[in-house]
Order: sequence, then structure tokens, then C-alpha cells
Amino acid sequence: MPTFKKARRFGVVFYLILFSLGFLWLASNAVIDEFVPDGYLQTICRIVAFVAFSLLLIKVGLGRLKSFKCQNCGAPLGRMKAAAVAPALKPEHVPDNAILRYCQKCDIIWDTGVRNNSN
Ligand SMILES: [Zn+2]
Repeated sequence: MPTFKKARRFGVVFYLILFSLGFLWLASNAVIDEFVPDGYLQTICRIVAFVAFSLLLIKVGLGRLKSFKCQNCGAPLGRMKAAAVAPALKPEHVPDNAILRYCQKCDIIWDTGVRNNSN
């Protein structure tokens, strides 16, 4: 019988990305201050660095949202609708529109915290 576990929230990933962006940008600014002479070139370098880091982190963030890995063994897992889980197995607090991931190896059903409100 599979156990239900709550997956780490994607919200944490979001804040982590925001934090990394701030950090990378500040770090790159220090480098730009050091090596690029004052003036418009410095401004351009800052903007380019900001855009580049944003794109990179958005790509990483979207990748994480799309592919869910088992937080116990790291195996990539497919989506599963809560409605497909036998009622006897499903805890009461998990609604039918919850997006779940099931790891066969660990016999764990992960509640991603994501709810499907489209139907
Ligand atoms: Zn697993």
C-alpha cells in the first residue's frame, strides 16, 4: 500500500531562483565595476548580465516545474490524477483535482501541492 507524502513546494524553488538571480547580478556587477570602465558600456553590461541570468534561471525553473523527480530516490515521475487513486488509499485532505506523482520503486504517492483548476 503506497504512502502519501507532501512534496516540497515549488514556491521554495521560486524564491531560490529569485535569490540566485539577485546574488548572480550583484556578483556580476562587482566584476563589471572592476573590469569595465565607467559609462554607458557599464550600463549595457549590467543589463546584458541581468537578462542573461534571468533567462538562464527561468529555463532552470521551468525545467524543474515540468519534470518532477521522486524526492526520495530521484527517479523522474509522470503525472497522476488524484481522482485515479482508489478512495481507500487517498487521505481526506487531498482533493480530487490534486496533481500527484507516484513512484513505484519507493511506493510513495507525492502530493505536489499543485491543484488542477481547469476542470
Ligand atoms: Zn522514488
